[in-house]
Amino acid sequence: MPSIVIDSLSKRFDGVQALSNVSLEIRNREFMVLLGPSGCGKTTLLRCVAGLEQPDTGSIQIGDRTVYSRSEGIDIPPRERRVGMVFQNYALYPHMDVFENVAFGLRMRKTRKKELQSRVTEALELVNLTGLEKRSPRQLSGGQRQRVAVARTLVTKPQELLFDEPLSNLDPKLRVSLRAQLRRLHKQIGATSLYVTHDQNEAMVLADRIAVLQDGVIVQVDEPRTVYDHPATVKVAEFTGNPKTNILSGEINRSDDRLILIPDDDPYCFIELPDSVSGFVGRRVYLNCRPEQVEITSHLSDDLGRLPVLSVMPDGSHVFVHLRLGDTMQQIIARGSVHEFARIRRNELVALNVRRGNIFDFDTEYLLHSFGYEDSGRPALSEHGVEVT
Ligand code: ATP
Repeated sequence: MPSIVIDSLSKRFDGVQALSNVSLEIRNREFMVLLGPSGCGKTTLLRCVAGLEQPDTGSIQIGDRTVYSRSEGIDIPPRERRVGMVFQNYALYPHMDVFENVAFGLRMRKTRKKELQSRVTEALELVNLTGLEKRSPRQLSGGQRQRVAVARTLVTKPQELLFDEPLSNLDPKLRVSLRAQLRRLHKQIGATSLYVTHDQNEAMVLADRIAVLQDGVIVQVDEPRTVYDHPATVKVAEFTGNPKTNILSGEINRSDDRLILIPDDDPYCFIELPDSVSGFVGRRVYLNCRPEQVEITSHLSDDLGRLPVLSVMPDGSHVFVHLRLGDTMQQIIARGSVHEFARIRRNELVALNVRRGNIFDFDTEYLLHSFGYEDSGRPALSEHGVEVT
């Protein structure tokens, strides 16, 4: 049974449609991440679930209670929704020590002394802060303060947890470590979690499923790997690129017995495509290929896909090779191991092979087809006609 059900939610601020007819079901004990670029409506959706924002239409159910329904005139105040919330700004009480900060919610509920003591101890243990009970927030690092904020939320044992970019004020190393701790914590306590972030790495690590928001609309709800391999739209492909994905517009054509994409930016560069795209011959599309799916070789068997190397940039164990497409600023980026790209030199001509990729409709920008992936069992998004070979 789903733990949070959001049905047909819309919210307009003067002149801005922040959410348009959003529906989303979060399963019991699931970690759902809301991912999307700045301004797409993530925080608004979270605040609607928390009761801090009133939607214009739709309904929200938490557990077995309807907490908001426009048509039935229900709007339960935030405190009575009984969800735990962790925000970006971990406003701790500066005059209270760590113990008292965590105990605050229990004191408000007049919890008995013995139970309060054991629950605060347990919550601090969960976030690895045992021993720091007497410190004041001033004497803690940013990461420790955020863990106090998490403990303060956990101590009241909410069934549902809402997180609004809780790690975004922390330095990158700390973020990575706290991310892992949050994941472990979720496994331990199993509260249903809704987590807002614009950081795709964070979403990939934390989520059981990711809901991607684009301009106030949910365009995809899938497991992290599926979002990365089969992005529902061109924007999702771009947004989940790490550091950047290749998006080329062009037309699919047949040349002799081969299927090729002729990119708009370079009509002399033919990118060979597999037979599975034969149904799209003559169609204008976008091709998405992740840098790690682009193979390059200095061995030129024919004149298909010859491109000049603009730069070769080592990055630890990997190398990024930038290829120039026509006379434009457009580039194709390939990423391979130091060993794989050892012979690639600047200014030489290389041949290109796209191992895996996605084809999107040029007008709607929705996914039409994925090729080269093993998981042919991926469920189709029927309204957009996705097929995977
Ligand atoms: P970010 O990642 O930058 O926090 P977000 O995806 O969380 O962005 P929201 O904060 O939900 O986006 O905002 C969605 C849209 O609604 C934006 O265009 C924003 O400017 C607008 N908006 C949000 N809150 C208000 C408000 N109180 N009044 C007017 N417009 C608002």
